[in-house]
Amino acid sequence: MLYDIAIIGGGPAGLSAGIYASRALLKTLLLEKISPGGLVITTSKVENYPGFPDGISGYDLMQQMEKQARQFGLEILSEEVISITLHENKTAFHIKTRTNTYQSLSVIIATGTTYRKLGVEKEDMFLGRGISYCATCDGPLFRDKEVTVVGGGDSAVEESLFLTRFVRKVYLVHRRDRLRAGGILEARAKANPKIEFVWNSVITKISAGGGSDPTVAPSLTGSRQRDRGAFGGEGGTKIEKVILKNLIDNTERELKTDGIFVCIGFKPETAFLTQRWGAGVELDADGYIITDSQMRTSIEGIFAAGDVRSNTLRQIITACADGARAAVSAQHFVQEKRQESVKK
Ligand code: NAP
Repeated sequence: MLYDIAIIGGGPAGLSAGIYASRALLKTLLLEKISPGGLVITTSKVENYPGFPDGISGYDLMQQMEKQARQFGLEILSEEVISITLHENKTAFHIKTRTNTYQSLSVIIATGTTYRKLGVEKEDMFLGRGISYCATCDGPLFRDKEVTVVGGGDSAVEESLFLTRFVRKVYLVHRRDRLRAGGILEARAKANPKIEFVWNSVITKISAGGGSDPTVAPSLTGSRQRDRGAFGGEGGTKIEKVILKNLIDNTERELKTDGIFVCIGFKPETAFLTQRWGAGVELDADGYIITDSQMRTSIEGIFAAGDVRSNTLRQIITACADGARAAVSAQHFVQEKRQESVKK
């Protein structure tokens, strides 16, 4: 089967591209590693997406987008893409997943971003045992506890404020003495008596209670599943304290904490672009895909849309707009390709 368009990624950009492409009656396949929705499903309330004056949960919004895309005939498969290569005769791209290979005349990469990790020893092992990358998902599990949020941007401050609904105290640990987050968020955080700022500091060690190591367990953030029992359940070893290093005087101190929320930004999901394609699909210094205003990448026939694209604003609305534009550009590309083959 030869598809017209293969979309990789099922967040707002990918689903919007899917709506436009399927509605234009193009044979379109969307491949998503887990299930459609993207990181947006972890947002408790989306307030700035037009059309929802009372806000809408990220999960509900993405369910609606998926339903709309399927109604136009978009085919959606849960498979992780591991490589894209151009067929020898240059007629089609081969999109390889862990289980299959699909052929398509064009590709839209809409893989978005993933959470940046702290890089502290045993971070992955504590996932689901006290470490989270999403307060909206896991915050309610820390009712009346003391938690640590790491980061100084909008996410860290917004997540800290959200957590104060449930927890007794939030330590907001930032590596500098000034927040990156601006304006109203900073003012709200500084006025909140449950938030204590820990400036110029980083976590160097995480320790579990009872002296034993944690076992690997799924988390809401990690699995994107609403399995609340997975978090620090019976028999699991949970975080008890962290060691904080002050970057000004290099002193270290212990901080007792029940959980750590890591909010230190995102990195693009472009690892599946192999060396060969990494060199072909041009990336910026941070690994985001460079496109022109029509979402064309440096490889003819490959387009990119949404947060994975080198851009200054990463919002749901910009991802949707990118997706629409990428689908229309891909449509033009496919039409030209088909006309060329008729002439031959
Ligand atoms: P961000 O703006 O990139 O901020 C990341 C923060 O983490 C920075 O304060 C950074 O410190 C710190 N950091 C980075 N690496 C670190 C490390 N290894 N160890 C310790 N700290 C580290 O990321 P974000 O807050 O997730 O926001 C991403 C984008 O989404 C931004 O454009 C933001 O405006 C937007 N956003 C908007 C809203 C909103 O409008 N309500 C909400 C959330 C996010 P430095 O400051 O020292 O670099």
